[in-house]
Amino acid sequence: MSLAEYKGVYVFAQQVDNEVSSIALELIGKGKDLAKDLDTTVTAVLIGHNVMGLTDVLGEYGADKVIVVDDPELKEYRTEPYTHALTCVINEFKPDICLIGATAIGRDLGPRVCARVHTGLTADCTQLDIGDFPINPLPGQEQKKNQLLMTRPAFGGNTIATIACPNFRPQMATVRPGVMQKADRVEGRKAEIIEFNPGFVPNEKYTEILEIVKEVSNVADIMDATILVSGGRGVSNAEAFDTLLAPLANVLGGAVSASRSAVDSGWIDHECQVGQTGKTVRPDLYIACGISGAIQHVAGMEGSEFILAINKDETAPIFDIADLGIVANVDTLLPKLTEAIKKYKEAQ
Ligand code: FAD
Repeated sequence: MSLAEYKGVYVFAQQVDNEVSSIALELIGKGKDLAKDLDTTVTAVLIGHNVMGLTDVLGEYGADKVIVVDDPELKEYRTEPYTHALTCVINEFKPDICLIGATAIGRDLGPRVCARVHTGLTADCTQLDIGDFPINPLPGQEQKKNQLLMTRPAFGGNTIATIACPNFRPQMATVRPGVMQKADRVEGRKAEIIEFNPGFVPNEKYTEILEIVKEVSNVADIMDATILVSGGRGVSNAEAFDTLLAPLANVLGGAVSASRSAVDSGWIDHECQVGQTGKTVRPDLYIACGISGAIQHVAGMEGSEFILAINKDETAPIFDIADLGIVANVDTLLPKLTEAIKKYKEAQ
C-alpha cells in the first residue's frame, strides 16, 4: 500500500428515506476543518436509490465533490450492498480519511468496510484533529506528519484515548451524532458530482426486506431542542419529572432530558438520556437539575451554549463546567423559577 496515493477527506453521507441525515452534514462540517489543515477537499459519498436530488444540500453544506452510487439494490439500507458500494468507492478513489456517523447504520457499515479495505477504524470518536504521531515520540522513533488523531473515551469513560492509523489508509473513524458542528449553509453552492456504480450482483449475503415497521416515538428528540431541562438522581422520582421539570421546559419552549441515573431508575425514557451512552446535545441553554456532573454525563452536554446548574451540594463537579450555578434544592427552586418566567413572559 503506497500511502501517498491516498488523498482527500471522504464522508459517508447517510440518507434514510431519501432524506440526508443530520450526521452527514455534521461530518462534512468537520471534514472541511480537516481538509483545510491538509490542503485538500471534502467528498461526500451518497449511496441509495434515486438520491441525485440530495446532492444540492451536500454541496450547500460544504462538500466539494459528491460521489453518487445510485442503484435499485440500495433503496433501503442493507449491509451487503452498502458495504460493497463504499468499499468499491474507497478502492477506486483512495481517500486519505473516511468518516462515518456512529449511527445504527454507520456502526454496521464502518467495521465491515474497514476490514474489506484492510485498514483500522476508531469507533465513537468525540474529537478529530490533524497532527503528528506519535504525539510524544520516544528517542529515535519516527514521528509521522499530518495524521488523523482520533480521540474517544476509553475504559468506561475514565480516560480519553487518542488513536492514529499511521501505516494504513484510509484512516477511518465513526463519530457520534451531535458531536461535530455543521458548517453554515451557503444557498446555491454547488459540488462537483461524480456518478459511480461498481455493479451489484445479489448473492446469498443480500438480505430480503419483507416489511419495514417504523417505531412511533412520542418523545421529543432532545437533539433538536434549543433548550433542555435535564434531571438527575437529585430530582428524586418520576412524578417530579412531570411536576417540576416538564412545566419549566414548557414555559421555556424546551424539552426534558435526563442523566443515566434517572433513566436507570425508570423515571424517564432512555431516548432522553444525555451522555456517553446516551445522546450528545448542544442546546442554547442546558439546565442541569440535581445532576452531579459525572464525566460520562458531561461528555454529552459540555458543548451546550450556556449551562445553568442547580444542585444542593456546592462542591458538585457540575459547577466546574456551568456558566451559572445555583446552590439550591430543586424541589423548592424549580416551581419558583417556572412561576417567575411565566410572569415575566406574560408581562412582555
Ligand atoms: P448522582 O451522581 O447521584 O448525583 C445526584 C446529584 O443531585 C448530586 O450532586 C446531589 O448533590 C444532587 N441532589 C440531590 N438531591 C437534590 C435536590 N433535592 N436538589 C438539588 N440537588 C440535589 N451517566 C449519564 O448521565 N449519561 C451517560 O450516558 C452515562 N454513561 C455511562 C457510561 C459508563 C460506561 C459508565 C461507567 C457510567 C455512565 N454514566 C452515565 C453514569 C455516570 O457515571 C453517573 O453515575 C451518572 O451520570 C450520575 O447521575 P446523576 O448526576 O443524576 O446522579
